[in-house]
Parts: sequence; C-alpha cells; structure tokens
Amino acid sequence: MCGIFAHLNFGELKERNSVDVCMEGLRQLEYRGYDSAGIAGIKDGQICSIKSVGKVSTLDEAVKPQQLQFRLAIAHTRWATHGRACEANAHPQFDQDHRLALVHNGIIENYAKIKQTLVKKGVTFSSETDTETIAQLFAHHYKENLLKAAVNTFSELDGAFSVALIHKDHPDQIVVSSRDAPLVIGINDQTNEIFVSSDTNAFTGQSLRVLFLKKDEIALLSPDGIELYNKKGKALDITFEELCVEECQTATGEFDHYMLKEIYDQPLVLKEIIHSQSDETNHSALFEQLVLTPKQIKNVDQILIVACGSSLHAGYLAANMIETAARIPTRAEIASEFRYSDPIITKNTLVIAISQSGETADTLAACELAIDRGAHLVAICNVKHSTLVRMAPSTILLNAGPEISVCSTKAFTSQVCVLQLLTLYLARIRTFGASEGREFLRKCEAIPHLAQEVLKRAGSIASLAEKYARFTKFFYLGRQQMYPTCLEAALKLKEITYLQASGLPAGEMKHGAIALIDESLATIALCGNHVTNDKLFSNLMEIKARGGPILAFAPDGSESLQQVADDVLYLPIGESDEQNIYIYSIATQLFAYYVAKNLGTNIDQPRNLAKSVTVE
Ligand code: GLU
Repeated sequence: MCGIFAHLNFGELKERNSVDVCMEGLRQLEYRGYDSAGIAGIKDGQICSIKSVGKVSTLDEAVKPQQLQFRLAIAHTRWATHGRACEANAHPQFDQDHRLALVHNGIIENYAKIKQTLVKKGVTFSSETDTETIAQLFAHHYKENLLKAAVNTFSELDGAFSVALIHKDHPDQIVVSSRDAPLVIGINDQTNEIFVSSDTNAFTGQSLRVLFLKKDEIALLSPDGIELYNKKGKALDITFEELCVEECQTATGEFDHYMLKEIYDQPLVLKEIIHSQSDETNHSALFEQLVLTPKQIKNVDQILIVACGSSLHAGYLAANMIETAARIPTRAEIASEFRYSDPIITKNTLVIAISQSGETADTLAACELAIDRGAHLVAICNVKHSTLVRMAPSTILLNAGPEISVCSTKAFTSQVCVLQLLTLYLARIRTFGASEGREFLRKCEAIPHLAQEVLKRAGSIASLAEKYARFTKFFYLGRQQMYPTCLEAALKLKEITYLQASGLPAGEMKHGAIALIDESLATIALCGNHVTNDKLFSNLMEIKARGGPILAFAPDGSESLQQVADDVLYLPIGESDEQNIYIYSIATQLFAYYVAKNLGTNIDQPRNLAKSVTVE
C-alpha cells in the first residue's frame, strides 16, 4: 500500500531539485502508508539514498541537513507487507553491489523461490522484503541494457506490483512498470519535468499530460521524454490524457485532529449531497453519470455491492435499503472474498463498487471479475481521477472533500447518503409512486439538521468516553440497520484506540458471544431501530443479568432504558430507520474519537494502518 513517487528534469530550463519535488510528492502519498520512507538519486556516479523509519516528516528531517541536489530521484512511503518497519526494510531497496535502487508497491508472491535461487548463486540479501528480490534479480539480468533487464525481471515475477528503478550506469533514466497496481506518469510541458506517482493525489494543483500505465507496460523516462514498451520489450505508441487536479483545502482549522474536523464536516457535506442530487420535480434523485436507462433499471435482476472496510458497512446498509424500497435482490459482498468466488452474474446484474480512494486493490479486482462477466459497474468514490472511476462506465462521486484521517467518517456517511438517494432513484423507477418519493426525500432532507444536533451532544459523549476508556473490550449491539452501524462503530473504536471491539446483531448474543460477558466487557447498545427496540431491551437484560456494564445510545425520551443500562446517551429522535444510521454513526464516531483522545493514541494515523489499501 506504499506510495511511489519519482521525478526527472528534462529540457533546457532551470532545473528543480528532485529531492524537494519527491519530498512534496511523498507528503501527498503518505495516506498510503507511513511505516518508513526513503529517497534515492545518483550523485557523482553513485547511488545515494536516505531512508528512515516512520513518517515522511522524519525522512524530511534526515534529508534537509544533507542538502542533496538530484536532477532525478525515486521515493517511497511504505506500508510493510514483508518484513518489519525498520531501515533495512525501508525502500529504496538495492542490489548487493549498490548499482541500482528500486521502490515498489505490491507483493511479489514468488519472492521466496527467486530469493532462494539467487542466494544459491551467491547473492547476498540484506533485507526481509520481497522488494529486494526484484532489485537483486534485475541486477542479475542486467547486461548494460535496462529494457532487456526489465523485460526479463518482470516476466519472472508473480503478484501485483508497480516499481520505479534507477541504475548508476544510466544516470538520466528511470525505469517504471506496473502490473495490477496503479502507476501514473505525468509530463509538465511548461516546466520540463516528468513525474511518476502511485496516484494522481500527488499531482494536486498541476495541469499535466498523463499516462496511466497498463498491465505489464514498461516505461523508460529520460531527458528525451518517455518510451513505452509492452512486457516483451516491443515499443508502443503513447496516448496522453490531459489532467488537472484541483487544489483542495486540507487544514485541520480550529480542530485538534483531521478526524474531528471531518466528523464536524458531515452536516454540510450531507447537505450538499442531498441538495445537489435531489430531484424535487420528480420526487426522485439525480444521477447524471449513471449511464443506465430507466428500461435497463427496470430489467435489473440483482444488485451486488462490492467493498471493503467502512465502505462495506455502507454497502450492507445500502443492500437493506435498496431491497426494502426498490424490491431488487441486493447483497453486499466482501471484495477480497468476492474476487475469488464464482458469482452468478447475469447481463442484468448491477455491480456497485464502493471505495473512498478508488484504489482499494481487492475492490478493483472484484470489479474486474464483474466486468469480465458482463455486469454493469457503478463506482461510488470520493476521488475523481482514481483507478476505480476510470474503470467504471457509471460513476457517483461523493464530493465529500479530501478525507485525511485514516479512520473514515464523512466518507462513510456520504456513501450511505448517495446510496440512500440511489435507493430513491431506483425505487421511483421500480416501486415508488410520487407520494412515496416525496416522503422519502423529505426524510433525507432532515438528515443534515439531525447530524448537526448530534454534534451538539459532543460534550456528553466526551464525558461518557472518559468513563468508558478504562475498558479494554467492547461489544456494540444493535438490530436491523443498527447492526451494520454497530460494525462500523466497532471498526472506528478498534482503528484508533487499539481496543478490542465487535459489532454484533443483538439477537445473536445468546448463540455464543454472551459467554464473554462479565464486568470487564462494556456493551454499547445502539437503540435506533424502531421495530426491534423492545427485543433489544430484552437482550440487554440478559447482559445485565450476567453482570455486564451497559452504555445505551438511545433516542431522547427513552428513560425506561435506565432500568437496564448503567449509562444512557440521549440522541435526537430519528423519524426513520435511515435517519438513525447517521445519528448513531456520528455519535459513535465521536465516542471513538474521545476514547482515543483519553488514551493518547495517534488518532489521524493509527499504527499498522494506511488510508488506502492497495495490496491484497
Ligand atoms: N511488499 C513491499 C514491502 O513490504 C511493498 C509493500 C506495499 O506495497 O505496501 O516493503
């Protein structure tokens, strides 16, 4: 899930220092991983590199005093897959003679076998990474010709990867290649610079001609420009696209953390989504980039939603909404499982892929499978130029603004919101009359205000979080739409507090999980489902009878809960189950945030995680 960035100056103009450009590129890519970072260039005919464990800012501190000047460089921010986060495993990786440096995103599945062969031939390895195998293999194949070595090396690798490499015998060239891991090359014709990046986030604020590398393509970058080859080394024509990535506001402002800022962004973001996508005239919703005719929608026989993490939870919620309102059989599938399954996909199957970043490797692979089998793909994504958006014929952009905190908040509720509007759109074509549409829309329009009302309760949530921060184990219990809401609430808590938390459908407790109940495990009950709240009350009684402490999140006026819960957090009353998704999600986001604040964890960049999961 690493971020790769590379830079090369060409032409006659005054050159920029590639070190500065790469450091800025890495800062934009840090959301892809922050276990270690590194940079390499060529100085006085030798590979010169600096690596450090931890964030890009640590690398920055190491780089600055050296005052390095490179006219080309490759750089990397790592999310470790093979080998601990230590300097030896940081990228760039080298061959044993330090003739080349290489940065890599992905996993080489047959690295152990290749390593073993090379070791037998006397090659000395100095890291635990799979990446070093590529560097050593490249050196093994290298006979003065970079392209030939690249063709021979990459053809031996199994797995998904993107790489950038420099070699001291070719001080003005960078070799790049990718297979099932994104890599984009950009040219700035005004400044005579070539950039390489794992994604276009690092091109923010620039207008470039870009080339998204296709599977197994190899590119040689030099002051003469870009040469493109297929996996066999045959030259290919290049067609560039014009790309302009707008600059976005990304400061925390008055807030201590991005996560808190992004929680507070929600009323406005939700308001803008609802405002821009409501179709008051037809009591429906507007989806301009959906290339499906009403006739095709009438014929849809099933909807499959593929996603991971928080997006998957949004998918579970949406599956329920769509099936209930539009009466289309709908299932949310874990993308990493779906990609290896044998799904039944007809020509009338709609596949909806949800990914905040649009770079989630498992979701992209699931989409490929769906497209291969003839499904129509709809992408729901927050990043306009992402791989997912480029892959899907139909796109729904969240327009939630950049989400910087690793832990998803506003992207999650925005996903739920667009999916709720999509539900309305589908239902108006399939099942809803005008009055049902109007009523559904009216309830949607109340969501931003309810979200704002939840934020007003932040003080009470913070006090309860302080009290419950002493627990190390949590159950989140809910029923119906509150169950996926519980999954999401538990994920938030796990991600940023490192505490054990599980989301469970309350009715399932008695089938096993209740065995865990004692005074050391806190149960948080989300009492936001109108139909099953009485049943949930009984489930909570069963926990109380076994000595388990209970904190209930419940609508204003549910005083009776005090009979069973140790504490009750009162929340605004949602008129519908859908409205409650936002109310309880925002409340539990705040709860997780304040527990983490009490524990002093790194809220915006929790350990072991990355914002975008670009490996399997
Ligand atoms: N497999 C490489 C490593 O562990 C790259 C990991 C990645 O792309 O996240 O260093």
